[in-house]
Amino acid sequence: MTRKTKILCTLGPATQTPEVIRELIAKGADIIRLNMSHASHDWVRTVYARVREAATSLDKEVSVLMDLTGPSIRTGDVPEPWQLLAGDKVEFLLKADAKPTQKYCTTVNYPDLGRDLKKADTIYVDGGMIQIRVTELSQFRVVGEVLTPGEMKSRRHINLPGVPVRLPPLTQKDYVDLDLGVELGVDFFALSFAREPGHVQHVQLLLEQKGSKARVIAKVENQQALENLDALVEASAGIMVARGDLGSECPLEDLPIIQRRIVERCSYHGRKVIVATQMLESMIENPVPTRAEVTDIFNAVIEQVDCVMLSGETSVGRYPVRCVELLDKVIQRIEKQYPAGRFASDAPLKTNKHKTVKSAIVLANSIPGSKLLVFTLRGVMAHLLAHQRPEFAPIYAFTPHEHVSRTLTTARGVHPLLMDFSPGNPDATVRNAIRLLRERGVVKAGDPIVILSDALYNDTNVDAILLMEA
Ligand code: PEP
Repeated sequence: MTRKTKILCTLGPATQTPEVIRELIAKGADIIRLNMSHASHDWVRTVYARVREAATSLDKEVSVLMDLTGPSIRTGDVPEPWQLLAGDKVEFLLKADAKPTQKYCTTVNYPDLGRDLKKADTIYVDGGMIQIRVTELSQFRVVGEVLTPGEMKSRRHINLPGVPVRLPPLTQKDYVDLDLGVELGVDFFALSFAREPGHVQHVQLLLEQKGSKARVIAKVENQQALENLDALVEASAGIMVARGDLGSECPLEDLPIIQRRIVERCSYHGRKVIVATQMLESMIENPVPTRAEVTDIFNAVIEQVDCVMLSGETSVGRYPVRCVELLDKVIQRIEKQYPAGRFASDAPLKTNKHKTVKSAIVLANSIPGSKLLVFTLRGVMAHLLAHQRPEFAPIYAFTPHEHVSRTLTTARGVHPLLMDFSPGNPDATVRNAIRLLRERGVVKAGDPIVILSDALYNDTNVDAILLMEA
């Protein structure tokens, strides 16, 4: 219970059995991601039950994030992969009744493609592996010339760097997937290609109407999202730096700068930030990472992000459990070396609650070896504490509500613990919490404890800081 940066793992064929799911959680997975681009509903139901079972049997709080596919643009089927050469013409049909005019011709799932593009724009297919310059546009078709040779298979992802697209926030598939997530009780929904705050608000409202307490994470994947970054951050529970698509939608040399900017803005607004994609890409095939990957983890940890994410590494990779073990080890080493040294500028102390939280951190910092305990009903105090990034003290967050406890799994440095409070008896609540921590071996008698709470006094709203010994 020492690592502060949380680990998010994507499940897939490599990690679907009860045994492997249990291993992932035992070795350090805090959040499990279900990627709806590659998951059937039956599969989701099965693995969701396995995650809940494993978390219960390991007595560890684990949350589940359902990643909605979102309105991505994809090519249609091709009977055989095309071996494209520079100069070849490729045609994308926009209407079902449009007639092919080129040898290389396929459909595309976005009928407005011809309206959004201009001549000479570049279409990036398959993460930019194939680049096509637009030469002809109409409401029926888009024709372009291949700039870079490559193989093109069926249903490839299309990116349009710098082109503002009119795609809706959710597709029909997303609405159906969201209903499944609500029914199962997932804790977070990630919204792919979120471009405006309204997209996030739409999903959050939908969830509230359906009685779900899940929170929305916006995936920042293109330039439109970056143009609205502050508003998007404020509208969301957190941001996923989706470096895969960002790397196709923006100049690659800008990517580290974009990551840093997103981390800073999340820090400023007090929102979660998840760094995603290719953290340990080479371990999909190999048992050891590249040196550059270890250094990439270092950068995210030093930026004090809330979570780092594994995708293909755990969903289809050959060494999923080893990836989590390695990530856990590398993160712990970096956090030990650099416990402080916050990268982002300090978030503003907007309210008295923010100031109380800051005071508790100052107190904890002045007492070596102290631990922060927070008692929270809605999670607010615990999230605020995490956002101010206490340098040394770990945070143990007690709450009687499961959804609060699960949401706190994404908060940097927070160990959520589900515990009933003793109504009208704050002393008993605190004693129970300390007993629980002693049983888990994380505190011993006499350890200095800084308690922060707005939840101990039932009838009065008291923001309180208490200093005591375990
Ligand atoms: C990404 O693009 O980095 C990402 C996480 O999104 P996807 O779900 O499309 O992999």
